[in-house]
Amino acid sequence: MSPDRRDTPPLGVADALTREAIEHWLREEDAARLEALWRAADETRHRYVGDEVHLRGLCEISNVCVRSCAYCGIRAPNRGVQRYRMKADDVVDCARQAREFEYGTIVLQAGEDYGLSAEWVADVVRRVKAETALAVTLSLGERPETDLAAWREAGADRYLLRFETSDEGLYHHIHPDLPGRVSDRLADLRTLQRLGYEAGTGIMVGVPGQTYASVAADVDLFRDMDMDMIGIGPYLPHPATPLGAESAARAANDDWPPDQVPNSELMTCKVIALTRLVRPDANLPATTALSLVDKEAGRSHGLSRGANVVMPNLTPPEYREKYEIYPEKAAVHETAEAINASIQALLRELGRTVGKGAGGRGRAPGSGA
Ligand code: SAM
Repeated sequence: MSPDRRDTPPLGVADALTREAIEHWLREEDAARLEALWRAADETRHRYVGDEVHLRGLCEISNVCVRSCAYCGIRAPNRGVQRYRMKADDVVDCARQAREFEYGTIVLQAGEDYGLSAEWVADVVRRVKAETALAVTLSLGERPETDLAAWREAGADRYLLRFETSDEGLYHHIHPDLPGRVSDRLADLRTLQRLGYEAGTGIMVGVPGQTYASVAADVDLFRDMDMDMIGIGPYLPHPATPLGAESAARAANDDWPPDQVPNSELMTCKVIALTRLVRPDANLPATTALSLVDKEAGRSHGLSRGANVVMPNLTPPEYREKYEIYPEKAAVHETAEAINASIQALLRELGRTVGKGAGGRGRAPGSGA
């Protein structure tokens, strides 16, 4: 359904965009009318967070996971995965590499791996801070508050925990609870904020069963939650997962639930652009998943439709290929140097500059902070 031009709702920032208008724009398919959305998002990005693109080096420190997320290739029941945990020295080397590339942040990500003890992670954070002075972002899943507090105390600056979808039924379907522990990522995000982290969340776009109304609710929730970082990427089916098998069967029979949102590059860009409008000063990455769903244009579209962050992968190649959350991850065989060079070239092409310093929220012109 393509809406009539007279019905196109106005684009405004922060509170000006209603949930109905958000849903309307998600359904918009007319390329000329979408130009207005891209322009509004790009202008808002320029005005609130400037032209700098912050580079955050990503280090995938363990692919061990206790969870059984229906979408994720490193889910515990996937016996096809060769599991690893990086040594502390190798993680610190990754951070040194980030500093050599002049990135402001190292992101330490892993499955929800309790083999990474609170003490071990705290020690790594302290070493990285002492040796590189980089900002440290953690993305280690739903850990107890005592662990989160210890890591904050050790110097961690930020924490990423996507709520994945605000549709509770769908969330619990794709992200089953651990025995005796109900998963409540919204509560966890409030805890992170209370502990003084810059908190980041996000969603996957196009999960089977995800509707236009529910994605509009997600964007509305980003506005209400006052998040510092918001990562938005397309859902990419992994064949060794229950949701991947469901996606393949549905695609083969063209049998999608009513009002299914596609997991396309275009839909992901719409969600990024609308998110920029409702949270003008947040840090929004052009995600790796977006660069994979459209290898030619995904990353540059993300950056010109609202995003201001890229997370180049610094994980040593022998581990990177084992951290297969979705198949054919972009640049899985590329060296960190090659990934870095191609991102720097893209930024030059887009007329954007590389961000200096840690690139926390609200340091740029126009943000008022
Ligand atoms: N264990 C931590 C957690 O759950 O937050 C961090 C690692 S987890 C692999 C990081 C993110 O990867 C998830 O929040 C999810 O959005 C994304 N992801 C996992 N599988 C995916 C898939 N098949 N397609 C797209 N994104 C996926």
